[in-house]
Amino acid sequence: MTAEIIDGKAFSAKVRGEVATHVARLKEEHGITPGLAVVLVGEDPASQVYVRSKGKQTVEAGMNSFEHKLDADTSEADLLALIDQLNNDPAVHGILVQLPLPGHLDEDLVINSINPDKDVDGFHISNVGRLATGQNAMVPCTPLGCLMMLRDHHGSLSGMNAVVIGRSNIVGKPMAQLLLRDSCTVTIAHSRTKDIADVVRGADIVVAAVGRAEMVPGDWIKPGATVIDVGINRIDAPEKGTNEDGSVKTRLVGDCDFASCAEVAGAITPVPGGVGPMTIACLLANTLTACCRANGLEAPQGLTA
Ligand code: NDP
Repeated sequence: MTAEIIDGKAFSAKVRGEVATHVARLKEEHGITPGLAVVLVGEDPASQVYVRSKGKQTVEAGMNSFEHKLDADTSEADLLALIDQLNNDPAVHGILVQLPLPGHLDEDLVINSINPDKDVDGFHISNVGRLATGQNAMVPCTPLGCLMMLRDHHGSLSGMNAVVIGRSNIVGKPMAQLLLRDSCTVTIAHSRTKDIADVVRGADIVVAAVGRAEMVPGDWIKPGATVIDVGINRIDAPEKGTNEDGSVKTRLVGDCDFASCAEVAGAITPVPGGVGPMTIACLLANTLTACCRANGLEAPQGLTA
Protein backbone atom coordinates (compact mmCIF):
# COMPACT_ATOMS: atom_id res chain seq x y z
CA MET A 1 0.00 0.00 0.00
CA THR A 2 1.20 3.51 -0.71
CA ALA A 3 -0.34 6.05 1.61
CA GLU A 4 -2.28 9.09 0.54
CA ILE A 5 -0.31 12.17 1.55
CA ILE A 6 -2.32 14.57 3.70
CA ASP A 7 -1.14 17.96 2.45
CA GLY A 8 -1.07 20.27 5.47
CA LYS A 9 0.17 23.18 3.42
CA ALA A 10 -2.83 23.10 1.09
CA PHE A 11 -5.28 22.36 3.90
CA SER A 12 -3.94 25.18 6.10
CA ALA A 13 -4.33 27.60 3.17
CA LYS A 14 -7.98 26.49 2.90
CA VAL A 15 -8.51 27.03 6.65
CA ARG A 16 -6.88 30.47 6.50
CA GLY A 17 -9.11 31.32 3.53
CA GLU A 18 -12.22 30.30 5.50
CA VAL A 19 -11.07 32.39 8.46
CA ALA A 20 -10.56 35.41 6.17
CA THR A 21 -14.04 34.98 4.70
CA HIS A 22 -15.63 34.91 8.17
CA VAL A 23 -13.54 37.91 9.27
CA ALA A 24 -14.74 39.91 6.25
CA ARG A 25 -18.33 39.00 7.11
CA LEU A 26 -17.86 40.00 10.76
CA LYS A 27 -16.56 43.39 9.64
CA GLU A 28 -19.32 43.95 7.13
CA GLU A 29 -22.29 42.69 9.13
CA HIS A 30 -21.25 43.64 12.67
CA GLY A 31 -18.45 46.23 12.31
CA ILE A 32 -16.13 44.00 14.36
CA THR A 33 -12.47 43.25 13.55
CA PRO A 34 -10.90 40.36 15.48
CA GLY A 35 -7.60 41.31 17.16
CA LEU A 36 -4.70 39.12 18.23
CA ALA A 37 -2.06 40.35 20.68
CA VAL A 38 1.24 38.48 20.70
CA VAL A 39 3.67 39.06 23.56
CA LEU A 40 7.34 38.22 23.05
CA VAL A 41 9.77 38.48 25.96
CA GLY A 42 13.45 38.42 25.01
CA GLU A 43 15.21 37.84 21.73
CA ASP A 44 15.13 34.08 21.14
CA PRO A 45 15.70 33.89 17.34
CA ALA A 46 13.22 31.03 16.73
CA SER A 47 10.53 32.83 18.75
CA GLN A 48 11.16 36.04 16.77
CA VAL A 49 10.58 34.13 13.51
CA TYR A 50 7.34 32.57 14.84
CA VAL A 51 6.03 35.91 16.09
CA ARG A 52 6.77 37.63 12.77
CA SER A 53 5.03 34.85 10.87
CA LYS A 54 2.00 34.94 13.19
CA GLY A 55 1.71 38.72 12.81
CA LYS A 56 1.92 38.52 9.02
CA GLN A 57 -0.71 35.80 8.71
CA THR A 58 -3.01 37.57 11.18
CA VAL A 59 -3.00 40.69 9.00
CA GLU A 60 -3.45 38.61 5.83
CA ALA A 61 -6.60 37.12 7.36
CA GLY A 62 -7.97 40.66 7.81
CA MET A 63 -7.48 40.77 11.59
CA ASN A 64 -5.68 43.33 13.73
CA SER A 65 -2.26 42.25 14.98
CA PHE A 66 -0.81 43.81 18.13
CA GLU A 67 2.81 42.91 18.86
CA HIS A 68 4.36 43.58 22.25
CA LYS A 69 8.11 43.03 22.41
CA LEU A 70 9.58 43.17 25.90
CA ASP A 71 13.19 43.03 27.05
CA ALA A 72 14.56 39.70 28.25
CA ASP A 73 14.92 41.10 31.80
CA THR A 74 11.30 42.30 32.02
CA SER A 75 9.96 41.73 35.53
CA GLU A 76 7.06 39.37 36.20
CA ALA A 77 5.05 42.32 37.59
CA ASP A 78 5.49 44.29 34.34
CA LEU A 79 4.50 41.30 32.20
CA LEU A 80 1.43 40.62 34.35
CA ALA A 81 0.48 44.30 34.10
CA LEU A 82 0.62 44.11 30.30
CA ILE A 83 -1.53 40.96 30.28
CA ASP A 84 -4.04 42.69 32.57
CA GLN A 85 -4.18 45.60 30.14
CA LEU A 86 -4.76 43.24 27.19
CA ASN A 87 -7.39 41.28 29.16
CA ASN A 88 -9.32 44.54 29.52
CA ASP A 89 -8.84 45.81 25.97
CA PRO A 90 -12.04 45.19 23.93
CA ALA A 91 -10.07 45.39 20.65
CA VAL A 92 -8.01 42.36 21.73
CA HIS A 93 -9.87 39.04 21.38
CA GLY A 94 -6.88 36.71 21.54
CA ILE A 95 -3.72 36.89 23.64
CA LEU A 96 -0.68 34.69 23.01
CA VAL A 97 2.43 34.80 25.15
CA GLN A 98 5.24 33.26 23.11
CA LEU A 99 6.91 30.38 24.96
CA PRO A 100 9.46 29.59 26.25
CA LEU A 101 9.74 32.55 28.62
CA PRO A 102 13.09 33.58 30.16
CA GLY A 103 13.88 31.47 33.24
CA HIS A 104 13.04 34.13 35.87
CA LEU A 105 9.38 34.21 34.75
CA ASP A 106 6.86 31.65 36.02
CA GLU A 107 5.20 30.30 32.87
CA ASP A 108 2.21 28.74 34.66
CA LEU A 109 1.53 31.97 36.56
CA VAL A 110 1.78 34.05 33.37
CA ILE A 111 -0.43 31.75 31.25
CA ASN A 112 -3.04 31.48 34.00
CA SER A 113 -3.22 35.28 34.25
CA ILE A 114 -4.64 35.48 30.70
CA ASN A 115 -8.43 35.78 30.50
CA PRO A 116 -9.35 32.16 29.53
CA ASP A 117 -11.77 33.45 26.89
CA LYS A 118 -8.83 35.23 25.19
CA ASP A 119 -6.38 32.34 25.70
CA VAL A 120 -5.99 31.39 22.02
CA ASP A 121 -3.18 28.94 22.82
CA GLY A 122 -5.60 26.97 25.02
CA PHE A 123 -3.03 26.47 27.77
CA HIS A 124 -4.95 28.18 30.63
CA ILE A 125 -5.96 25.70 33.30
CA SER A 126 -9.63 26.67 32.79
CA ASN A 127 -9.42 25.73 29.13
CA VAL A 128 -7.77 22.41 30.02
CA GLY A 129 -10.72 21.74 32.35
CA ARG A 130 -13.31 22.92 29.85
CA LEU A 131 -11.86 20.63 27.17
CA ALA A 132 -11.82 17.67 29.55
CA THR A 133 -15.43 18.27 30.62
CA GLY A 134 -16.84 18.93 27.15
CA GLN A 135 -17.46 22.67 27.57
CA ASN A 136 -16.64 25.40 25.05
CA ALA A 137 -12.86 25.62 25.39
CA MET A 138 -10.08 27.36 23.56
CA VAL A 139 -8.22 24.31 22.19
CA PRO A 140 -4.42 24.17 21.75
CA CYS A 141 -3.60 24.94 18.12
CA THR A 142 -1.44 21.95 17.13
CA PRO A 143 -3.87 19.23 18.27
CA LEU A 144 -6.78 21.23 16.84
CA GLY A 145 -4.97 21.22 13.49
CA CYS A 146 -4.48 17.45 13.71
CA LEU A 147 -8.17 16.97 14.53
CA MET A 148 -9.23 19.11 11.56
CA MET A 149 -7.07 17.04 9.21
CA LEU A 150 -8.43 13.78 10.61
CA ARG A 151 -12.04 14.94 10.34
CA ASP A 152 -11.43 16.18 6.81
CA HIS A 153 -9.94 12.82 5.82
CA HIS A 154 -12.34 10.47 7.61
CA GLY A 155 -15.52 12.41 8.22
CA SER A 156 -16.58 10.70 11.45
CA LEU A 157 -13.88 9.34 13.79
CA SER A 158 -16.43 7.54 15.95
CA GLY A 159 -15.36 4.08 17.15
CA MET A 160 -11.84 4.27 15.75
CA ASN A 161 -8.87 3.11 17.83
CA ALA A 162 -6.47 6.02 18.27
CA VAL A 163 -2.99 5.90 19.81
CA VAL A 164 -1.33 9.19 20.76
CA ILE A 165 2.40 8.81 21.38
CA GLY A 166 3.45 11.56 23.80
CA ARG A 167 1.68 13.04 26.82
CA SER A 168 2.74 16.69 26.87
CA ASN A 169 0.29 19.39 27.94
CA ILE A 170 0.78 21.13 24.60
CA VAL A 171 0.15 18.25 22.21
CA GLY A 172 -0.33 14.71 23.58
CA LYS A 173 -2.90 15.24 26.34
CA PRO A 174 -5.18 17.71 24.51
CA MET A 175 -4.95 15.53 21.38
CA ALA A 176 -6.17 12.55 23.38
CA GLN A 177 -9.03 14.63 24.83
CA LEU A 178 -10.09 15.77 21.37
CA LEU A 179 -10.06 12.24 19.97
CA LEU A 180 -12.05 11.01 22.97
CA ARG A 181 -14.55 13.82 22.37
CA ASP A 182 -14.92 12.58 18.79
CA SER A 183 -15.71 9.10 20.21
CA CYS A 184 -12.42 7.36 19.45
CA THR A 185 -11.12 4.68 21.79
CA VAL A 186 -7.94 6.42 22.91
CA THR A 187 -4.65 5.09 24.24
CA ILE A 188 -1.84 7.42 25.29
CA ALA A 189 1.65 5.96 24.95
CA HIS A 190 4.76 7.53 26.49
CA SER A 191 8.35 6.78 27.44
CA ARG A 192 7.32 4.17 30.03
CA THR A 193 4.83 2.32 27.81
CA LYS A 194 5.59 -1.41 27.57
CA ASP A 195 5.50 -3.13 24.16
CA ILE A 196 4.83 0.19 22.44
CA ALA A 197 5.07 -1.43 18.98
CA ASP A 198 2.13 -3.72 19.81
CA VAL A 199 0.14 -0.81 21.26
CA VAL A 200 0.63 1.23 18.08
CA ARG A 201 -0.18 -1.77 15.84
CA GLY A 202 -3.75 -1.73 17.20
CA ALA A 203 -4.38 1.83 16.04
CA ASP A 204 -6.56 3.04 13.18
CA ILE A 205 -5.17 6.51 13.94
CA VAL A 206 -1.61 7.16 15.15
CA VAL A 207 -0.61 10.64 16.34
CA ALA A 208 3.13 10.81 17.03
CA ALA A 209 4.21 13.74 19.25
CA VAL A 210 7.46 12.61 20.76
CA GLY A 211 10.36 14.70 19.47
CA ARG A 212 12.52 11.72 18.44
CA ALA A 213 13.61 11.60 14.83
CA GLU A 214 11.98 8.78 12.82
CA MET A 215 11.23 6.74 15.94
CA VAL A 216 8.11 5.04 14.56
CA PRO A 217 8.94 2.48 11.83
CA GLY A 218 6.48 1.18 9.25
CA ASP A 219 6.18 -2.22 10.92
CA TRP A 220 4.46 -0.56 13.93
CA ILE A 221 1.67 0.68 11.64
CA LYS A 222 -1.52 -1.28 11.00
CA PRO A 223 -2.13 -1.54 7.25
CA GLY A 224 -4.43 1.28 6.15
CA ALA A 225 -4.05 3.32 9.36
CA THR A 226 -3.87 7.13 9.31
CA VAL A 227 -0.58 8.55 10.63
CA ILE A 228 -0.38 12.13 11.89
CA ASP A 229 3.25 13.07 12.49
CA VAL A 230 3.59 16.07 14.82
CA GLY A 231 7.32 15.75 15.39
CA ILE A 232 9.78 18.32 14.07
CA ASN A 233 13.37 17.10 14.32
CA ARG A 234 16.46 18.47 12.61
CA ILE A 235 19.00 15.84 11.59
CA ASP A 236 22.28 15.93 9.68
CA ALA A 237 21.93 15.49 5.94
CA PRO A 238 25.45 14.85 4.61
CA GLU A 239 23.92 14.05 1.20
CA LYS A 240 23.09 17.78 0.91
CA GLY A 241 26.76 18.77 1.40
CA THR A 242 28.20 21.35 3.76
CA ASN A 243 27.48 24.96 4.72
CA GLU A 244 29.95 27.83 4.17
CA ASP A 245 31.32 27.31 7.69
CA GLY A 246 32.06 23.65 6.92
CA SER A 247 29.21 22.25 9.03
CA VAL A 248 27.04 19.50 7.60
CA LYS A 249 23.71 20.63 6.10
CA THR A 250 20.57 19.49 7.89
CA ARG A 251 16.98 18.56 7.07
CA LEU A 252 13.71 18.24 8.99
CA VAL A 253 12.15 14.87 9.74
CA GLY A 254 9.19 13.79 11.82
CA ASP A 255 8.79 11.26 14.60
CA CYS A 256 7.77 8.62 12.03
CA ASP A 257 10.03 7.01 9.47
CA PHE A 258 8.13 8.46 6.52
CA ALA A 259 9.32 6.03 3.81
CA SER A 260 8.45 2.81 5.66
CA CYS A 261 5.26 4.17 7.27
CA ALA A 262 3.98 5.44 3.91
CA GLU A 263 4.26 1.90 2.50
CA VAL A 264 1.81 0.56 5.08
CA ALA A 265 -0.43 3.46 6.13
CA GLY A 266 -3.62 4.49 4.34
CA ALA A 267 -2.77 8.17 4.81
CA ILE A 268 0.12 10.09 6.35
CA THR A 269 1.20 13.68 6.98
CA PRO A 270 4.68 14.61 5.71
CA VAL A 271 7.31 16.60 7.64
CA PRO A 272 7.66 19.37 6.69
CA GLY A 273 4.33 20.33 5.12
CA GLY A 274 1.94 18.37 7.34
CA VAL A 275 0.95 19.39 10.85
CA GLY A 276 3.34 22.36 11.03
CA PRO A 277 1.42 24.78 8.74
CA MET A 278 -1.86 23.93 10.51
CA THR A 279 -0.69 25.37 13.82
CA ILE A 280 -0.79 29.06 12.81
CA ALA A 281 -3.98 28.48 10.78
CA CYS A 282 -5.60 27.19 13.98
CA LEU A 283 -4.29 30.17 15.93
CA LEU A 284 -6.19 32.40 13.50
CA ALA A 285 -9.26 30.15 13.77
CA ASN A 286 -9.08 30.38 17.58
CA THR A 287 -8.83 34.18 17.45
CA LEU A 288 -11.92 34.28 15.26
CA THR A 289 -13.73 31.89 17.64
CA ALA A 290 -12.77 34.03 20.65
CA CYS A 291 -14.00 37.16 18.89
CA CYS A 292 -17.34 35.58 17.95
CA ARG A 293 -17.93 34.29 21.48
CA ALA A 294 -16.96 37.67 23.01
CA ASN A 295 -19.66 39.27 20.86
CA GLY A 296 -22.36 36.69 21.56
CA LEU A 297 -22.09 35.21 18.06
CA GLU A 298 -21.76 31.54 17.20
CA ALA A 299 -18.22 30.48 16.25
CA PRO A 300 -18.03 29.14 12.68
CA GLN A 301 -18.56 25.39 12.41
CA GLY A 302 -15.53 23.49 11.17
CA LEU A 303 -13.05 25.96 12.66
CA THR A 304 -13.55 24.84 16.25
CA ALA A 305 -13.41 21.52 18.05
P1 NDP B 1 7.58 16.94 24.89
O1 NDP B 1 9.04 16.73 24.95
O2 NDP B 1 6.93 17.88 25.83
O3 NDP B 1 6.87 15.51 25.08
C1 NDP B 1 7.35 14.38 24.42
C2 NDP B 1 6.56 13.18 24.84
O4 NDP B 1 7.10 12.04 24.17
C3 NDP B 1 6.61 12.88 26.33
O5 NDP B 1 5.31 12.60 26.82
C4 NDP B 1 7.50 11.65 26.43
O6 NDP B 1 7.13 10.72 27.42
C5 NDP B 1 7.29 10.99 25.08
N1 NDP B 1 8.44 10.16 24.72
C6 NDP B 1 9.73 10.49 24.75
N2 NDP B 1 10.50 9.44 24.36
C7 NDP B 1 9.64 8.45 24.08
C8 NDP B 1 9.82 7.12 23.65
N3 NDP B 1 11.02 6.60 23.39
N4 NDP B 1 8.71 6.36 23.46
C9 NDP B 1 7.49 6.86 23.70
N5 NDP B 1 7.26 8.11 24.12
C10 NDP B 1 8.33 8.90 24.31
O7 NDP B 1 7.27 17.32 23.38
P2 NDP B 1 6.03 18.11 22.71
O8 NDP B 1 4.77 17.37 22.95
O9 NDP B 1 6.09 19.54 23.06
O10 NDP B 1 6.45 17.99 21.18
C11 NDP B 1 6.57 16.73 20.54
C12 NDP B 1 7.10 16.93 19.14
O11 NDP B 1 6.17 17.71 18.42
C13 NDP B 1 8.43 17.69 19.06
O12 NDP B 1 9.17 17.17 17.97
C14 NDP B 1 8.01 19.12 18.76
O13 NDP B 1 9.00 19.83 18.06
C15 NDP B 1 6.81 18.86 17.87
N6 NDP B 1 5.84 19.95 17.88
C16 NDP B 1 5.39 20.37 16.67
C17 NDP B 1 4.46 21.38 16.58
C18 NDP B 1 3.95 21.77 15.24
O14 NDP B 1 3.46 22.86 15.06
N7 NDP B 1 3.99 20.87 14.26
C19 NDP B 1 3.98 22.09 17.77
C20 NDP B 1 4.44 21.50 19.01
C21 NDP B 1 5.36 20.49 19.05
P3 NDP B 1 7.29 11.02 29.00
O15 NDP B 1 6.18 11.94 29.33
O16 NDP B 1 7.15 9.67 29.60
O17 NDP B 1 8.64 11.63 29.18
